[in-house]
Amino acid sequence: MGYIKRLWLVKKRLILSIGIASFTALLIITLQLNFLQPSWGATSDLPPLQPHPLPATLANWVDNTNSGDYFTQIRPSPAGYLMWFDFPIKVYVEHPSQNLGVGTQTKAEVQKTNPQPVTPVNPIDPKLLKFQEWVDNVAQGIQPWKVYLPLEIVPEAENADIKVLRVRPLLQLTPNGPRARSAEVRYQVYLRKSPNSSTPVLYPKYDISISPDLSANYIRAAALHEIGHALGIWGHSPKETDALYFTQVRNPPPISPRDINTLKLIYQQPTRLGWSIPVVGAKGSTN
Ligand SMILES: [Zn+2]
Repeated sequence: MGYIKRLWLVKKRLILSIGIASFTALLIITLQLNFLQPSWGATSDLPPLQPHPLPATLANWVDNTNSGDYFTQIRPSPAGYLMWFDFPIKVYVEHPSQNLGVGTQTKAEVQKTNPQPVTPVNPIDPKLLKFQEWVDNVAQGIQPWKVYLPLEIVPEAENADIKVLRVRPLLQLTPNGPRARSAEVRYQVYLRKSPNSSTPVLYPKYDISISPDLSANYIRAAALHEIGHALGIWGHSPKETDALYFTQVRNPPPISPRDINTLKLIYQQPTRLGWSIPVVGAKGSTN
């Protein structure tokens, strides 16, 4: 089969590899982590499972408290363990100019007329102020992870690895009827050109939804928890002192040593992510 055609088939399969994790309302005690069953073809179409070098930030992490981990709760995706391999990880946080029509200037026009960084918020408008507070709280929830993996908040959604959107997650259908959720994360695996490879490489990307209706404390907690998933912790802790505890608690905890012990173990696992599609036996092209 021609390489292009085979790549297209692989791409078609990969696009179906979607996972969803949800972070639900206070005291709802159910595991909210699901994999949609993907439609995979032969794994010979995919890169072999291989580990990446451990990022220095995690290599340097030592848990002097010997707190243990919850690695057994982590599920690999069909592409292997979820993790990042290109740093810094680009995180986009939706902000007011994106969907409330603040002003009519384009970004280029704003830069032309005002070369200084501008905060696109009219502080008089309570809706915009509330939106900006959401943005600030999300950023505070993301910040603590920077100690453990290089993260960068980028101004544009395009090419971001992780997008954090200010939307209410869709209602979840349960045997007891539809249920509202306060936050959710989904991932998708796709093929992308890489500067380090002549053939496309498997990348994950994540969309996080965090409700605008949450209080400041819960917005921060939701961002901390969902970013934890998007860094690769695709599972939940059974202990409420961990940031990745499976449900929201009254006093959300910070990142715990157990969270980082688990993250470090994940990043030592083999994965198909970050490795290029094999080209053995593939030559020529097709239309
Ligand atoms: Zn979760």
